[in-house]
Amino acid sequence: MHDHDFAGLRGILAADGVNPCHAGALRGALYREIDAALDSRPFLPPLRRWVDRSVGESKAFFLDQPELVEEIRSEDGLTRKFLLRLRDGETIETVLMGYAERHTVCVSTQAGCAMGCVFCATGQGGFRRHLRPGEIVAQVLHARRVLHEIAPDRRLRNLVLMGMGEPLHNYEAVMEALSLISDPGGIGIGPSRIAISTVGVVPGIRRLAEEKRSYQLAVSLHGSTQEERAALVPVAKRWPLEELIAACRDYGTITGKRIFFEWTLIAGKNDSPATAARLAALLEGIDAHINLIPLNPTSGFSGAGSDGDGAERFQRILRDAGFPCTFRQRRGIDVAAGCGMLRGEGSGLAV
Ligand code: SAH
Ligand code: SF4
Repeated sequence: MHDHDFAGLRGILAADGVNPCHAGALRGALYREIDAALDSRPFLPPLRRWVDRSVGESKAFFLDQPELVEEIRSEDGLTRKFLLRLRDGETIETVLMGYAERHTVCVSTQAGCAMGCVFCATGQGGFRRHLRPGEIVAQVLHARRVLHEIAPDRRLRNLVLMGMGEPLHNYEAVMEALSLISDPGGIGIGPSRIAISTVGVVPGIRRLAEEKRSYQLAVSLHGSTQEERAALVPVAKRWPLEELIAACRDYGTITGKRIFFEWTLIAGKNDSPATAARLAALLEGIDAHINLIPLNPTSGFSGAGSDGDGAERFQRILRDAGFPCTFRQRRGIDVAAGCGMLRGEGSGLAV
């Protein structure tokens, strides 16, 4: 039983001697309403009493909201980064991105990250702790409230797990959060509009293949040989490239779904034509879309992004080999909200 789904809410109420028939009202208040303030909800007295005594108790941690420490808006006016403080003082970041046809929220799954990718600010800062399901859900709720303020006619319909942390290193909590986020009776973001991005945690990919859920999978590859990859992504030593690609092949076979491969282009490290050709050979037979990410600057890594010509040549080789290959739009670089720039420190001014 999951704490946050409908059956879970019924169970929690029942365990506290409250009739579980109130679970529907609680779910609606927590997840369907834009304004999640519980004080003013017209609950029936038994539920009102339970809510009043449960806020602040650890068993009902999903009732309390993280505190907004800082909201930073990028120059383009389309990207907002939120620095949120959790109950124990840990801070995480969430990014809301507006596009012509949609809004997407990018959430964190851990405070920090244990994977240590050399070019990533989160990895450079190390691991602090896993987020609980409620803390992942709360980021979506916050973004949805902000979106309602700035564009009331827009619904938040897309979610990417590409903030701080490695989602498949916090597997149970992430799955619990996602089932709640995609619950049509709750927040209602469709599973096919939810993307899980992993650095390549092989057991997690294999487990995900068996879940009967249509989440999108993105795999951060960054290297076409074991050596090239391990120099950028230290966990490649634990889950070698060969095993990772085998898991991706099986994932494709089992789910019938396309896999997105993310590739941060770094000058002189992984952007040569030979690398592009090797990558094409490596992915042969996989239904793959390759997403090229221009390197964003971080204080702990001195490498440079590929120049425009090099990046385009890289893309051309993959396209000529038959793979859809696109560049990720750069967003929020001025406020350190771009890929790999989240440290959990906001602008550095307010904490
Ligand atoms: N831990 C997960 C998800 C979060 S990172 C993962 O690694 O997939 C989201 C994406 O940003 C990953 O593809 C990651 O490789 C990329 N990234 C990290 N640091 C970056 C940087 N400095 N510039 C560009 N992309 C970066
Ligand atoms: Fe962690 Fe992803 Fe950053 Fe690697 S790129 S350190 S896995 S957040």
